[in-house]
Amino acid sequence: MSQDGYSVEKVTIIGSGPAGYTAALYAARADLQPLVIEGFFWGGLLQQTTEVENYPGFRDGIMGPELMNEFRAQAERFGARFVTEEATRVELAGGTHRVWIGEREVRTRALILAMGAEPRKLGVAGEQELAARGVSYCATCDAAFFRDKPTLVVGGGDSAMEEAIFLSKFASRVELVHRREEFRASQIMVDRARAIENIDFLTPYVIDRFDADDGGSLARAYLRRVDGAGGADGETRELEVSGAFIAVGHRPNSDIVEGQVEVDEEGYVLTEGRSTRTNVEGVFAAGDLVDNTYRQAVTAAGTGCQAALDAERWLRDTPLSPEAHWVSRDEVEEAIEAHAAETPAS
Ligand code: NDP
Repeated sequence: MSQDGYSVEKVTIIGSGPAGYTAALYAARADLQPLVIEGFFWGGLLQQTTEVENYPGFRDGIMGPELMNEFRAQAERFGARFVTEEATRVELAGGTHRVWIGEREVRTRALILAMGAEPRKLGVAGEQELAARGVSYCATCDAAFFRDKPTLVVGGGDSAMEEAIFLSKFASRVELVHRREEFRASQIMVDRARAIENIDFLTPYVIDRFDADDGGSLARAYLRRVDGAGGADGETRELEVSGAFIAVGHRPNSDIVEGQVEVDEEGYVLTEGRSTRTNVEGVFAAGDLVDNTYRQAVTAAGTGCQAALDAERWLRDTPLSPEAHWVSRDEVEEAIEAHAAETPAS
C-alpha cells in the first residue's frame, strides 16, 4: 500500500491476446500476482478466428476462441487477476506507473503493454459509411450474412486468402482484389484459394469507392487498374457486390501510450534490441503491438513470455523508493502553477 492509500501492483498487463495472457502466465508463476486489464472483448484477434492450424501442440488444430480460453484459464490457475474493462489512460511518469480504467486508477511498478493491432482500413469513399452494412473486416464473423450473394475481398496476404476461402463457402462469388500481381500470402494459401471454383482473382486493381443501394446497404464497388502495363493503367470496373471484406493488414493499438513511449512511423512500439524494454523504465511491450513482421500467435506468446521475464528481472534489480513517483505529472504542474501564483513578482 502506498502512502496515499493506493495499493501498488507489481505487474500490470494491458491486453489479452496470446502476448498478454502468456505474460500473465509467466508473471503469475513468478508469484507476481499480475493484474490483466483484458478489455471487454478479451482474447484478441484469435477470438474472431475459427480453426487455428499453426499453433504448436494442437496436431488437429483448435478453434481460436477455445485456444484463448485455455490461455486465460492457465494464467488464472497460477493467480493472474483480470479486469474485463478497457484501460482508458496511462501516465508513465516514473518508476511507478498509473493506469486508469475509466475513473478507477491502478498504480503499478512494472507495466506490460500487449494491446495488439487492429484491422487497417482502406480509407476510400463509402467504406466507413457502409461498415456493418456490407463492408466488413472479419469474414469469420460476417460471412454467413452473405449466403448466395456476390462479394469481394481486398488484400494479397494470408488474411485475404483465408477470408476468401472462408467466404467462398457462403457467397455465390468472391472476387479477390489485389493491387499487385504478386502475393504476399504463402504459396499454399494462394493455391488453395485458386483451386476454389467461386473465387476469382482480380489483379492489379484497387478500390476507388463503395456505393450503396436505396436501402443504404453496399451495392457496388468501383475498381481501378494500377499496373500501367499495356496502357491499361486507370481502366475502371464496376462490381455488383453485397459484401466487401477488407484484409489489408493491421494497425497497432498504441494510441493509449502515444507521446509517452517511443513508437515507429506506423505506431508500433519500439523495444530495445532483443528485449521487450521500451524507452520508459519499467514499461515493457510484446506481441503484435511491437511486431509488424511475424504477427503470429506463437511469436506473440513468445514475446509475452520475454516481457514477463524482463519485468521480473527489472523488479528484482530495481528496489522501490518509498517517496518516488507518487506525485503525478498533473500534480507537479498544479503545484508549480500554485507556487507561481503565490510567489510575488519581483
Ligand atoms: P499482410 O501485411 O501480410 O498483407 C496485407 C496485404 O494488404 C498486402 O498484400 C498489401 O499489399 C495489401 N494492402 C495493404 N494496404 C493496402 C491498401 N491500402 N490497399 C490495398 N491493398 C493493401 O497482412 P495479413 O493480415 O494478410 O497477414 C499478417 C500476418 O499474419 C502475416 O505474417 C501472415 O502470414 C499471417 N497470417 C497467417 C495466416 C495463416 O497462416 N493461416 C492467416 C492470416 C494471417 P502489398 O502486398 O502490395 O503490400
